[in-house]
Amino acid sequence: MPENLDPFDIALQQLKKAADAMKLDKQALELLSQPQAILQVSIPVKMDNGETKVFTGFRVRYNTARGPAKGGIRFHPQETLSTVKALSAWMTWKTAMLNLPLGGSKGGVICDTKKMSKGELERLSRGYIRAIADFIGPEIDVPAPDVYTTPQIMAWMMDEYEKIVRHSAPGVITGKPLENWGSLGRGDATARGGMYVLREAAKSIGLDLSKATIAVQGFGNAGEFAVKLARELFKSKVVAVSDTKGAIYVENGVDYDKLLEHKQKTGSVVNFPGSKNITNEELLELKVDVLIPAAIEEQLTAENADKVKAKIILELANGPSTPQADEIFEKKKILVLPDFLSNAGGVTVSYFEWVQNNTGDYWTEEDVHKKLDSRMTEATKAVLDTAKKYGVYTRTAAYIVAVKRVADAAKSRGWY
Ligand code: GLU
Repeated sequence: MPENLDPFDIALQQLKKAADAMKLDKQALELLSQPQAILQVSIPVKMDNGETKVFTGFRVRYNTARGPAKGGIRFHPQETLSTVKALSAWMTWKTAMLNLPLGGSKGGVICDTKKMSKGELERLSRGYIRAIADFIGPEIDVPAPDVYTTPQIMAWMMDEYEKIVRHSAPGVITGKPLENWGSLGRGDATARGGMYVLREAAKSIGLDLSKATIAVQGFGNAGEFAVKLARELFKSKVVAVSDTKGAIYVENGVDYDKLLEHKQKTGSVVNFPGSKNITNEELLELKVDVLIPAAIEEQLTAENADKVKAKIILELANGPSTPQADEIFEKKKILVLPDFLSNAGGVTVSYFEWVQNNTGDYWTEEDVHKKLDSRMTEATKAVLDTAKKYGVYTRTAAYIVAVKRVADAAKSRGWY
């Protein structure tokens, strides 16, 4: 039977598996199996050629039992409501995993940013915020960047929101540029948080990261900084990197600065001098110590999971592994560090940004790194300890920790 790859079905299958393992109350499971609210909007945008194009956008508020909803906005040509729902559920588990006083949400707009001018992108960003303005707010639901959205886009969105509410409201959105009261340390936070998770996990299996080889799928915000930081923090060798155009292999490890320069010049990592071009599939199946999927969902599936040779998978992307891939990884005893733990550094520093915006007290980069490290370390230990205690797969262990926190908050509010 072909694997069911509907994203929200996948999120529910994962939740159900954990609910069984932790014997979650039936009513809690029902409550946590659906979003609290879904908004679909159409956004008319005047394009540069004078014609109006109507874009479709979504915002899904999954759960607010622990606080205001929090989650990024994706600008993706293949965006679907099911994907946004799944991602909003994962945000709920992510903020709970890191013990942030926040809930979970997600947004998305169906569009191809690579085919849009800067002006069109700005008008779309502002139009999306006008369409969802009643649905968000610093104490309601706080968006942030995600796939193909940037600090510049966050600045336009904050500006548009402030024009609507007619007062300053920097806490309405995070991931802003520093000059618009973004946080120091937000730029590389997703990858940096992931490195702290990797450090703890490697320690737990006795893997020396200074001798480790790493393959990174994706060269966006998460992947790019993973390449940089793996070398900077651990002296690990990143032997393979990919982007949407292809992948490269460098036996002795890539030089981050040179690769970045090449990408900026040519638009891709492929044909990097001194490297061998390989396929994306080959990258995932390389014999490396650590595989870092840092692109998009459903990359490791029933089709290729058996061919993965890494000892550790650090999921910097959201939803890169399907349930059937999970079954295979579990059997092969690969240490999978699940997405809503591994990539939670982004939302954690978003939370720091929101706190700084709401108090007007701004922190040093060193402070941000220290606070991020202690939260990521604590969350990683909770997952590894729970996996051991219940004898369950790491993804299920992460669900057990996070879902319990959300379910407890909902219970004492009287929601079930
Ligand atoms: N989009 C990021 C994520 O999936 C960050 C979300 C945020 O900062 O709110 O975790």
